Amino acid sequence: MKAALLEGPKNIRVADIPKPAAGKGVLLRVRACGICGSDMKFYNYGDRVKKFPQILGHEVAGEVVEVGSGVDSLAVGDRIALRNEVQCGRCPACLKGLENVCENIEDVIGVTIPGGLAEYMLLTEEIIEKGLANKMPEKMAYEEGALAEPLGCVVNGLEFARMEEGKSVLVIGAGPIGCMIINLARIMGASEIVVVDKNQKRLDMARPFGADHYVYGENFLDDVLGLSKGGYDVVMSACSDSKAHEKAILAAGRGGFVNLFGGIAKGLDDAVSFPNNFIHYRQCSVGGTFSQTRHHHKRALQYLAAGKIKAGEIITHKFGLDEAEKAIKTVQNQECLKVMVLP
Ligand SMILES: [Zn+2]
Ligand SMILES: [Zn+2]
Repeated sequence: MKAALLEGPKNIRVADIPKPAAGKGVLLRVRACGICGSDMKFYNYGDRVKKFPQILGHEVAGEVVEVGSGVDSLAVGDRIALRNEVQCGRCPACLKGLENVCENIEDVIGVTIPGGLAEYMLLTEEIIEKGLANKMPEKMAYEEGALAEPLGCVVNGLEFARMEEGKSVLVIGAGPIGCMIINLARIMGASEIVVVDKNQKRLDMARPFGADHYVYGENFLDDVLGLSKGGYDVVMSACSDSKAHEKAILAAGRGGFVNLFGGIAKGLDDAVSFPNNFIHYRQCSVGGTFSQTRHHHKRALQYLAAGKIKAGEIITHKFGLDEAEKAIKTVQNQECLKVMVLP
């Protein structure tokens, strides 16, 4: 089979390698694999990759083509979408239903075990047992199925921030995640959505998602506060910048919820400071979310199935497997929203 092998940092080679055997798992014919911002860390620095060569890609959808011994939950022809972290199922976090922040995540699809930038991918017994594979609703396109992974993170993020009908929303960062936040917040009944970015091109690409105001620039606090009635009910900081996170907190209204959604890259200063009395006297909540549970992934598939997610606008670029490296560089250059590889 053809696969895009990450042979070391910044080095991808498309090669023919043996097709994996189903064993006690199932073999998936990969039909779509999204490229994620986090893939840049794996591609550029080999972050978290335990051994090379590795096959990147964790936003995967495909069709089951072979079922191994003892698997009865999946059948040939099933159309599957994946989330990416193999949780332990036993630690205090897992037992509380927070499998997304499991203490013992050992394997991550497309990072420590081969992912979706290949014609075929093995779903091990463990991946199946731990609920990483969800069946796609009928008629859903594979590209939409692959979007369920990033969208699941957004579902988790907005639920955590108590998004509800009638609330005002500030979105910091107009990348693919920011656009999905606008899209989903609107579905959830946002009264007013303001989005900011320091990249004008990205703001332009976010236009089809129908925020009420688009604000350009790095020093956006006064502008966005001026557009609000005393700050925002929900603030989603979908960027990897601790200075933007600080402004996010100061944009909260009374009783507001701030989600510092974007992790800060390893090695950068991730300290975020804010005046205590600001959140105290406004009764604000400041938190952060990471990844998703199987329930968020299923809800993401339901939102996609309902046809309310603008998948056609979120996916701005499509590449074949031979162009896997070009696909990654397109994400690197931030000239896109979601990039899909169709192996
Ligand atoms: Zn991702
Ligand atoms: Zn665990």
